[in-house]
Amino acid sequence: MTFQVGRTGAVTPVANLEPVQLSGTVVKRASLHNADIIENLDLYIGDMVYVEKGGEIIPKITGVDTALRSFMIGEKVKFINQCPECGSTLIRYEGEAAHYCPNDSACPPQIKGKIEHFISRKAMNIDGLGPETVDSFYSLGLIQNTADLYQLTIEKIKDLDGKGEKSAENIINGIEQSKKVPFERVIFALGIRFVGETVAKKIAKSFTNIDELINASKEELINIDEIGEKIAQSILNFFSNETNRTLIQRLKDAGLTMQRSEEERADYTDKLSGLSIVISGTFTHYSRDEYKAMIEKNGGKNVGSISAKTSFILAGENMGPSKLDKANKLGIKIINEEEFLKLIS
Ligand SMILES: [Zn+2]
Repeated sequence: MTFQVGRTGAVTPVANLEPVQLSGTVVKRASLHNADIIENLDLYIGDMVYVEKGGEIIPKITGVDTALRSFMIGEKVKFINQCPECGSTLIRYEGEAAHYCPNDSACPPQIKGKIEHFISRKAMNIDGLGPETVDSFYSLGLIQNTADLYQLTIEKIKDLDGKGEKSAENIINGIEQSKKVPFERVIFALGIRFVGETVAKKIAKSFTNIDELINASKEELINIDEIGEKIAQSILNFFSNETNRTLIQRLKDAGLTMQRSEEERADYTDKLSGLSIVISGTFTHYSRDEYKAMIEKNGGKNVGSISAKTSFILAGENMGPSKLDKANKLGIKIINEEEFLKLIS
């Protein structure tokens, strides 16, 4: 058994299995999700188990073959009480199945996980930095949190594990570039529990700057589309934490975008208001993500699959034949990049 600690502190029990072939891949590990599931399975070390591959990365154990239990059986599998990484006593929030390590300011996988989330492509998108580099900078004591990234210099990192001047320059440039990342992505990058990309966007549209958000009341938060009791409470908890507030102040001082820009507000139009748009194929002028952002900025909705409700398809090169077929059958208009750009210009 291994217990993994994620960036939110959630502890996931993972069973190490005798490797087995399962629909084309070798399975060595399976998730046991939480303490209740372990308890219900009545699992012992050495048990023969049923494993199922679902949509998730790690397959899950669905049952135990107790008939095959031999005298060789090991101990009963129990959930742990202490964090395997930092030793803190685990807690369980009311109404939640997962156990959490509450030590979010000093538990190593939580700190590294938060930094990794912060630099990821959909958050601050810092080029040249990856999980390995974060891991090594953290081990060397160079970074303890996301704000420390903005204090790195080429001098400090160029001689570390064979990085060299060029790659150090790339990293520092990437960090510098991230200061231009818009407010909505900065909110997402903060890693507030339950605040994903979509919710972060809604928040950015509802508040002019970070201070307004920090001081928002529960009612104000709940009034925002897609935010309910649970997310609102999580946001309040995050900003009431002194460590988080200090961190945000440091990120602000470093020059990150902590407010909606004037242009951004001016950029929002209703040119595509009420339209459901499917994006398909590969593009030359902008990336798929950029087109998605343009659709949203102009009041449209980017949807995944074609239906009778689809307003039009923004198609690049090599649109899938089945999609093309469906579009033709439903009589849905297909427009190319140039036409789309003209439409919103
Ligand atoms: Zn811990």
